[in-house]
Amino acid sequence: MKQQIIDLAKKCDADLVGFASRDRFEANDPLFKIFPNVQTVIGLGFRVLRGIYRGVEEGTTYYQYTTMGVENLEETVMPMALLRVANLIEAEGYTALPQRKNPLIMNEENETNPEVDYTDVYRGVKAENQLNFLDCAVKCGLGEESKIHSLLTPEFGPFVRVCFVLTDAKIEETELKQLNLCDGCDECIKACPGRAIDEQGETNSWRCAVYYNGANGSKNPFMPPDAFSDFDLKTKMEIIKGSAEFDNEQAKEILDNIYFYPPAKHFYRTSICGRACDRACYIHLEKKGVLTKSFNKPFREKEDWKLSIKQFETGKRED
Ligand code: SF4
Ligand code: SF4
Repeated sequence: MKQQIIDLAKKCDADLVGFASRDRFEANDPLFKIFPNVQTVIGLGFRVLRGIYRGVEEGTTYYQYTTMGVENLEETVMPMALLRVANLIEAEGYTALPQRKNPLIMNEENETNPEVDYTDVYRGVKAENQLNFLDCAVKCGLGEESKIHSLLTPEFGPFVRVCFVLTDAKIEETELKQLNLCDGCDECIKACPGRAIDEQGETNSWRCAVYYNGANGSKNPFMPPDAFSDFDLKTKMEIIKGSAEFDNEQAKEILDNIYFYPPAKHFYRTSICGRACDRACYIHLEKKGVLTKSFNKPFREKEDWKLSIKQFETGKRED
């Protein structure tokens, strides 16, 4: 059945398939609360097309990453693959439980998810009952955890999304290899337009939400000159420069003033930062020559762009 699962998952556009037996998980892992009799976790990895990042890299189109790289993968392609693989397993007489990430449930009580509207985040469910997706991906042999807790795969670096099928079928597991992809270069940390990741690699999810949604004026082509007019000029300019200090409540106030571009359907917010942290990581790994999927040209072809923020001081658009 293992080969049948791999073949079917790949037919359904999964680029990576890995297997972990229950023995790789601690007894108190949420996995066993979700499915006590689970024997195998099957990990499916889907590349986010490099070309989809091209628009934000060039500052020309932002809709494609959100709709094709997030929404359609998470809402169409990945669920379809999960269902097909789960159906195959159940046809063989075993139970299969698909696991998609719920974007509205956080690991920590006071966190948020930059990919959705913070008001949609649901606070009533305990996160400890949710599968740890990053940990499962690593245990399935799909990749390694980076310094900033992203998943790095040998093929696509951080340009990947994952989902899982839990089953009571015993399937031979994928061998785990030492990958050593993340070298702690901090390019990801330096690339964030809102300094949302600290030196230790920990991300403040509220800062991330503010700048993911485009609060840095030098990186947001859609921001009008009179943006953040409810804030005094000093605060407004600190927000726009990415240097403002704010707490979670002030983050919400900023997010309430940030509607400069329509979100994709299914409530996903448009990524105006274009996941600069992941792009910087991808560029770094590509330069080092450690990614197994290569392209004819390097991803970054010229100097990264930055817009003038003078117009936000005057409130008038510059010609
Ligand atoms: S840019 Fe990539 S390789 Fe460098 S520290 Fe960040 S995650 Fe690690
Ligand atoms: S670059 Fe974007 S996604 Fe990455 S930490 Fe900063 S705001 Fe968040």
